[in-house]
Amino acid sequence: MYFKAKKSLGQNFLIDQNVLKQITNTVEIKDKEILEIGPGSGNLTVHILKKLPKKIHVIEKDDDLSLLLNEKFKDEINIINDDVLKISEDKISKEKLTVFGNLPYNISTEILSKWIINLNKEFWFNELVLMFQKEVADRIIAKSNSSKYGRLSILSNWKLNIEKIIDIKPESFSPRPKIDSSLLVFTPKEDYFELINPSNLEMITRIFFSQRRKMIKKPFNQIFKNAKEISEKFEIDLNLRPQNLSPEIYLKLAKEYENLTS
Ligand code: SAM
Repeated sequence: MYFKAKKSLGQNFLIDQNVLKQITNTVEIKDKEILEIGPGSGNLTVHILKKLPKKIHVIEKDDDLSLLLNEKFKDEINIINDDVLKISEDKISKEKLTVFGNLPYNISTEILSKWIINLNKEFWFNELVLMFQKEVADRIIAKSNSSKYGRLSILSNWKLNIEKIIDIKPESFSPRPKIDSSLLVFTPKEDYFELINPSNLEMITRIFFSQRRKMIKKPFNQIFKNAKEISEKFEIDLNLRPQNLSPEIYLKLAKEYENLTS
């Protein structure tokens, strides 16, 4: 069946067999329950099946590709023909899932943020093996004091350990994207800083990083009425820039805000 890739759905299919093998060698698959996001024509799905998982669920928004997957895999996989942004992943199975996704670039950060914000104490996954455009992956793994450090690094590192596995060149895809990609593996942290409402962390980092070159005095005053007192409590120099504050400081500030507003 001939299929024309749809740009609007970020369809760049991975065709490099070595990279596909490398992705499925990253984590244990045998006897695990797998969720694949955006399987496309099933190039990665074939490699996952070879590793004998207990079960595979896939979420594919494209109706044509869902039909194609149905023809190709029949009962071997559970096809959910829907938008990943509208699905409650924690309802798919009672077992913890191992997640693979060569995510559509235009919504990759939205998917990741949704998962992190909605995470309950009981994680619904064991591991996330996700491909991003390299520039986004660099922002996710960036450390404080670097130019790429920002909201995405702070949010992602809050509850998850993150490891970069490989960079992948445009030649590995069809059609070729204009940019490089990177594969990251996320695993739940056993211990992480508790917040009642994660949207406070989102709000605080949004306000701080909306003016990333300016001193933090202004966002501090915008968020806290008693800014001076709080900066002294956490020994924060208000002449610093947002990128100079560690993720821990942002978490502490979100907690402080929570305590003051609850
Ligand atoms: N995994 C395949 C591969 O590596 O060859 C395809 C990857 S392609 C970059 C992204 C896939 O995600 C496409 O199949 C696209 O149709 C699907 N997709 C795009 N937006 C989606 C959404 N909101 N929910 C579920 N799938 C989506």
